[in-house]
Amino acid sequence: MKTIFEKSNGSDGINLTDEPCDLSFIDKEFIRTEKIGLPQIGELEVMRHYKELSDRNFCIEKGFYPLGSCTMKYNPKVNEFLASLEGFQNLHPLSEDSQGTLELMYNLQELLKKITGMDAVTLQPAAGAHGELTGMMIIKKYFEGKNRTKVIIPDSAHGTNPASAKMCGFDIIEIKSNEKGQVDLDALKAVLDESVAAIMMTNPNTLGIFEENVLEISKLMHDNGSLLYYDGANFNAIMGYTNPKLMGFDVVHLNLHKTMATPHGGGGPGAGPVCVTEQLKSYLPAPIVDFDGKKYFRNYNIENSIGAVKSFYGNFGVLIKAYAYILMMGKNLKYASENAVLNANYLKEKLKHILKLPYDVPCMHEFVLSAEDLKKEKNVSALNIAKGLMDENTHPPTIYFPLIVHEAMMIEPTESETKEKMDEFINVMTKIVQETSHEKLANAPYTTPVKRVDETLAARHPDLNGIGL
Ligand SMILES: *Cc1c(COP(=O)(O)O)cnc(C)c1O
Repeated sequence: MKTIFEKSNGSDGINLTDEPCDLSFIDKEFIRTEKIGLPQIGELEVMRHYKELSDRNFCIEKGFYPLGSCTMKYNPKVNEFLASLEGFQNLHPLSEDSQGTLELMYNLQELLKKITGMDAVTLQPAAGAHGELTGMMIIKKYFEGKNRTKVIIPDSAHGTNPASAKMCGFDIIEIKSNEKGQVDLDALKAVLDESVAAIMMTNPNTLGIFEENVLEISKLMHDNGSLLYYDGANFNAIMGYTNPKLMGFDVVHLNLHKTMATPHGGGGPGAGPVCVTEQLKSYLPAPIVDFDGKKYFRNYNIENSIGAVKSFYGNFGVLIKAYAYILMMGKNLKYASENAVLNANYLKEKLKHILKLPYDVPCMHEFVLSAEDLKKEKNVSALNIAKGLMDENTHPPTIYFPLIVHEAMMIEPTESETKEKMDEFINVMTKIVQETSHEKLANAPYTTPVKRVDETLAARHPDLNGIGL
């Protein structure tokens, strides 16, 4: 029988004629009778179309990207090359003898243990929030049968923290930050009782401030029979200087896409490995990658496992990049954190003369300004400043987060930026805040493909297919 790829009247396998193929082997009802009506566009035009679209995209390769809490650092291109090697790319996910792949994952687990101080690792979760969910499922299972139903979360936390705990069926107790922007010990003590399973903390927290009382907090929690969860999305601030084990945490997730070099604008791809202490090792998702001295293998024999949280290898491409990045950096990981913190403090000290700095203390990898006064005086909001920055080839900082700062602008320069670039940003911010009129900013941006959108209308009447239907 001929296939549609064969010449209809010959046997050289190539159809160079206009003659229709022999389609007699396909049922009549499945054969199209009209033309498909595909647009007639040359390859060059198609290429230009996609290039045009990609040029509209803002990325770290184009300009400064101080999106707080997202760690938009430069991700070396060599990692992309390594992740695209044929042996990785063409590997079938069910292949049993992928020793090299398993070895890579095993080694990465070992490195993450070193970096976090923890005792065991799962590489399965596909994002930070997915890591949180995994970690909270572990804590839930650990306390199975006990009446530990509550999870304490500081009010400065990332929104995913309460969401993840809630999805595991925990009740959330929010506690207020004190005047230093840190966990209020009295507020914590007031809610601690036998029903508390855990606290979820970010350290440095989302204000970019290191929680000075973390050791006291971990003692309080452990004395209460509770566990501590560490949101490691801000790990870029502390690599090589300290780790969550030293701070007394039991479960940690890392955002490899933020800290360990995967480009992640626009929502992906990610990897959110979860690292735990010995005490929780038997609860990890199965399988974890193990080594018996001769062979690497997927270990399904995990006694109290919560089960798999992601199929196959997790987001394997991201794991390759993280492994390459960590090996390439070696002990210099420490200097990445050092420079990230130095850069953030430099910007903070300069920008605090332009906008209010609600917590005027040394920061870690990021800091949060407030446009509250500017809004009162000149009716210029954090949103307006953000939109104005878009006309200056600069990605806006994260705005309106954390929620405890009004008109918040959360700035994270990362270690990748030069002093010159940061000075440019300082100039641009100064110009926008001090010189640009409210009227002008109210309609910014002017130079982007999409101008100011009506966000209220978009939220109330979302146009989900882009053509208003
Ligand atoms: C980014 C972030 C998360 C969530 O990570 P995703 O990979 O986006 O799911 C959680 N916590 C903090 C502090 C973050 O910055």
